[in-house]
Amino acid sequence: MIKGSGGAEGIAIGKAYVLPDWELELADTRIDVQDIANEFERLHEGVRISKTEIQKIKQDIAEVVGAEESNIFDAHLAILEDPVFINEVSAVIQRQYKAAEVAVKEVIDKFVNMFNLLDDEHMKERAIDIKDVGTRLLKHLLGVFEDSEPPREEPFIIVARELPPSRLAHFDPSCLLGIVTAAGGSTSHTAIMARAMGIPFVFGVESAVQTGDLLIVDGEEGTVFVNPSPEQVQAYTERKKWRELQHERLRTIIDVPSLTKDGKEIVLAANINSLKELDNALEQGASGVGLFRTEMVYMDRDSLPGEEEQLAVYRSAAEKLSGKPLVIRTLDIGGDKQLGYLKLPEEDNPFLGYRAIRISLDRTDLFKTQLRAILRASHFGRIKILYPMISSVEEVQEANKLLEEAKRELASEGHPFDGQIEVGVMIEVPAAVAIADLLAQEVQFFSIGTNDLVQYVLAVDRMNEKIANMYDPYHPAVLRMLKQTAEAAERSGIPVSVCGELAGDADALPIWLGLGVHELSMSGHSILAVKSRLIEASEQQAKALFNRMLECRTSAEIKAILRMQSQGNGDGQEKETI
Ligand code: PEP
Ligand code: MG
Repeated sequence: MIKGSGGAEGIAIGKAYVLPDWELELADTRIDVQDIANEFERLHEGVRISKTEIQKIKQDIAEVVGAEESNIFDAHLAILEDPVFINEVSAVIQRQYKAAEVAVKEVIDKFVNMFNLLDDEHMKERAIDIKDVGTRLLKHLLGVFEDSEPPREEPFIIVARELPPSRLAHFDPSCLLGIVTAAGGSTSHTAIMARAMGIPFVFGVESAVQTGDLLIVDGEEGTVFVNPSPEQVQAYTERKKWRELQHERLRTIIDVPSLTKDGKEIVLAANINSLKELDNALEQGASGVGLFRTEMVYMDRDSLPGEEEQLAVYRSAAEKLSGKPLVIRTLDIGGDKQLGYLKLPEEDNPFLGYRAIRISLDRTDLFKTQLRAILRASHFGRIKILYPMISSVEEVQEANKLLEEAKRELASEGHPFDGQIEVGVMIEVPAAVAIADLLAQEVQFFSIGTNDLVQYVLAVDRMNEKIANMYDPYHPAVLRMLKQTAEAAERSGIPVSVCGELAGDADALPIWLGLGVHELSMSGHSILAVKSRLIEASEQQAKALFNRMLECRTSAEIKAILRMQSQGNGDGQEKETI
């Protein structure tokens, strides 16, 4: 078994088709001064044809992955239209008397190396896009533009060093069973497309695979088996069937209200990073968005997004939700998420550093633009605002002051917005738990971010594999923090939702029922699994269980209580091993 990383979930079993590398060997062709004009012409013609092709790919692929994901190819067009790129190539032709293809290769290599040197996964993924566009242009300049032909007899699993989006778009999706690459990332454009196409994808696999090898690709586990044993094939065929059955079974409860047997409702909402994820979430029956992480709106670009751009995204999300609530969290950058163009200084402890609301209150230009965009979008749906990483009352007051300023500005400019827009805070720092009663007086709701709360309560870095076993959401200290938060909210009469990963863990449900939380917000694909547990649960029993958990001295005891109830529940959650 080879361990890589999962880029798109699902299981594929089939024969490998190994794509040859798109590396082109070039002679260092020099030109005479009188040929310069001719080389410019070749360059511009190559750019023109490449652009036409990319536009065609974009159109074709939009039918498969949807209009939004096909916008990936706008980034490719932008590279060919970038004056910096064209000027650099022209300068190499004109000053160094090099042929157009040699100049293009030099400039592309320079950019790709530069991006690869940055210690930033996102930038490395963009290097794949630049190489993709550059290779397309080079092939036109060299007059060799045929990709190798895939096998026609049966569908196959593509194996490649790199699979740039335009090369993926070259294949008929009905022939693609899965994708395995060495390079890539879960936020790469290839991964986004694979998810949209529903094709299992594993990246980070370096091993030698030959065309014709039998593969098992598990996009959920991020694993690949090369020439597996018949027993493994059998086990994975069953696992695949089992998962499909589970999906089908879960789909039957999509319209069932999310109530316990004794009538307690918990709103099941989705966490999203993009509009595409919103489509998936709605397909899974999400009753709203409990957390729109807006970081993606700021990523994959060279400068801050303006008000109009942001408005377009938030408005579109609100409209897609047709009246269901949309909680938009203001920018939560810093920690593990960086924006190169903000040029934030390196920090020894980024999770304890300059991040989230701390940046927003420091860079009020950035914050106000986002608040204005959210407010303007609130005219088109039921939007709420959520501030991340709050650790003091002053922070909320300052943020709210800026929000009021933004409202006044918009009113005087004649822009409509929801004057009563609700504001909430993430409860994810222990200080916020300790002053939850005070924070509750400043806002209309709480959203508990268990991902950060666990790391800060236990002083365990959520990104550090070495201490991953200490990152324990079921630690009694965490339980006490949750209880304190819920009680403070209840006393002040404001609702509590939970939006960390733990919200999507069906085993944790008795905790939420015990606490009396109003909403769980989770990744779209967990919604139905949690719902299937919820509709079989009883609030009364959960409260009794929760009281027993509060008396536990260790997380092992708490987990044992939860395990016993989930086994008693016999809910058919996936538990098999191979
Ligand atoms: C959290 O911390 O639980 C949370 C939902 O926010 P993020 O994972 O984006 O930090
Ligand atoms: Mg967080």
